[in-house]
Amino acid sequence: MLEFGGGTSCVLVEAGDQAVFLDAGTGIMNTPDVGARQLSIFLTHPHLDHILGLPFFPYLLEKNKRIDFYAKRSGTHTAKEQVGEVLSPPLWPCSADDYPADIVFHDLTLPVKLGDILIEGMDSNHPGGGTVYKLTYRGKSVVYATDYEYDPSKAPELVEFAKETDLLMIDGQYTAEELEGKRGYGHSTPESGIRIMKESKAKMIRFVHHDPMHTDDFLKKMEAEAAALYGISGTDNEGDLKKVAFARKDEVITL
Ligand SMILES: [Zn+2]
Ligand SMILES: [Zn+2]
Repeated sequence: MLEFGGGTSCVLVEAGDQAVFLDAGTGIMNTPDVGARQLSIFLTHPHLDHILGLPFFPYLLEKNKRIDFYAKRSGTHTAKEQVGEVLSPPLWPCSADDYPADIVFHDLTLPVKLGDILIEGMDSNHPGGGTVYKLTYRGKSVVYATDYEYDPSKAPELVEFAKETDLLMIDGQYTAEELEGKRGYGHSTPESGIRIMKESKAKMIRFVHHDPMHTDDFLKKMEAEAAALYGISGTDNEGDLKKVAFARKDEVITL
């Protein structure tokens, strides 16, 4: 898993004076330097793999660094309560208030504007609920639909939401065969992602939330099959900006 990585969900979107983290899985531990940009974290949902990196987020150790943390209420849980258990004993010795940084929690209602970024959302199809985000900045957009289970009756909403997006990041955890025994787990196959990509006319796709049991070789095979389904193969889908791919650890995409 050296190429694709074994970190859990975290994507950083940098635009203008903003650095927006989508989810705080273990990937957030390896954040690049975001300079003087305003830091915020938007949570899709509080499942453990999406918040596990938060206690180790390097910027929490920077004195008075402001970090805005946004999450929709999950049931009765406020944004702060959703990460309360990984930031308190017995799971962890310190609370959010103990860190040198200044973490400000927001119970999110969408849309919101952060600098010049518009952040919109729709409900995900996932146990316990979740949020699919769209970030738009100066005519470019990205959609982040992790922990999303494809359902033909609900897919048109995502197709509309992701219309002509520059980058669609979508759940690609299972093969079609694996999905058979795992319906209702809240995850999808690359095949259904390609369907959403085609129907929405998204310009590029990155499958996220790969199954931790899938090896690099296995993911490359899934990737080639998905690209073929989209109608591209071999060298047409190579280079830094592949149209169809699984997201790689530390991959950087400039739109
Ligand atoms: Zn989940
Ligand atoms: Zn997850």
